[in-house]
Amino acid sequence: MPLILFAAPDLWPEYRDTLPAALAEAGLDTTLVTEADPAAVDYIVYAPASPLQDFTPYTRTKAVLNLWAGVERIVGNPTLTQPLTRMVDPGLTEGMVEWVTGHTLRHHLGMDRHIVNPGHVWDPTCPPLARERPVTILGMGALGSACADALRGLNFPVTGWSRTPKPGNLHGEDGLKQALSTAQILITLLPKTPETENLLNADRLALLPKGAVILNPGRGPLIDDDALLAALDAGHIGHATLDVFRVEPLPADHPFWSHPKVTVTPHIAADTRAITASRVIAENIRRGEAGEPFLHRVDRTRGY
Ligand code: NAP
Repeated sequence: MPLILFAAPDLWPEYRDTLPAALAEAGLDTTLVTEADPAAVDYIVYAPASPLQDFTPYTRTKAVLNLWAGVERIVGNPTLTQPLTRMVDPGLTEGMVEWVTGHTLRHHLGMDRHIVNPGHVWDPTCPPLARERPVTILGMGALGSACADALRGLNFPVTGWSRTPKPGNLHGEDGLKQALSTAQILITLLPKTPETENLLNADRLALLPKGAVILNPGRGPLIDDDALLAALDAGHIGHATLDVFRVEPLPADHPFWSHPKVTVTPHIAADTRAITASRVIAENIRRGEAGEPFLHRVDRTRGY
C-alpha cells in the first residue's frame, strides 16, 4: 500500500476529502498522511510554498507531484532527484480560459469607455468584430492552446508562438517578431525559465502595433517592468492587464498600482481546483504503481 505524503499544509483543508475520494475512485489502496518518516514515503503531493525543501531523505519516493502548473520554484532544487510532475488540471484550465477571454473581450469591446463615463458622453462608435482583431498568444501549451481554442471560437484570428515547431504555430526569433508585429492583443502564457525571463524587453515591445494591449497571466518576469512602463507612457502600448508579478503581493508602492493604463489582478487568473486536481494526482499515482509513464512530467533541462 503506497504511502502518500501531502506536503502542502496550507492546502490540506481543501484536499482532505477530495484526494482520498479520488484515490479510491482510481481503485488505489493508499495511506495518505501529512507527516511521515521520509524513508517510507512513496509519493509527495507538493506546493512550492511547502516547508519541505530538502528531498534528500526521501530515498524511496517515486515522484513529487506538484499542485501548481508553474514549477520555477522547485525545478532547480538540487536535492530533488525524483521525477517531478506539474499540474495540468481541467479546472485550472477552465479558469484561465475564462480570465483570458473576459479580459480580451474587455479590451476588444472597449468596455471601459462605457463603464467609467463620468461625463455621460454619447459615443456611438462600434468596436470592430473579433475577426478584425488579431490576437497573439506566447506559449501554446496546456493553457495557451485552450485559450486559443476559446478565442478562435469567438472568431479572433489567433497566432500562437512556442519553443518547438508545431503545425499552425510560429517558433524561434523570426516567428516571435512576426507574432508580435500583428498582435493587437498579446497574451503571455509562458513558464518562467532562464530563456523566457525579460522576453518582452524594450526592443520586442517596440515590435507590437501602436496601441496594443498586453495580458500577462503567465509570470511577472516575462516582461521587463521598466520597459513596459516606458512603452505605456509613450503611448505605444495601450494597456496592460497583469495578473502576475516579480514580487507578490505586488508592493504597495509599485507604479503598476497607480498607472492609469495598468490593471492589476492579484494572481487569480487560474487556481488549481481541488476536485479536478485530485483526480490528476490519483491518476499519476495509479500510473506510478502500474509502472506507466507519469503525466505532465517536468523536463529539468528545459525548466518546465
Ligand atoms: P505548458 O503546457 O508547459 O506550456 C508552456 C508553453 O510555453 C509551451 O507551448 C512551450 O513551448 C512554451 N515555451 C516554453 N519556453 C519557451 C521558450 N523559451 N520560447 C518559446 N516558447 C516557450 O504550461 P501551461 O500549463 O500552459 O502553463 C503556462 C504558464 O502559465 C505556467 O508555467 C505558469 O507560469 C502560468 N500559470 C499562471 C497561472 C495564474 O493564475 N496566473 C495559473 C497557472 C499557470 P513548447 O510547446 O514548444 O514546449
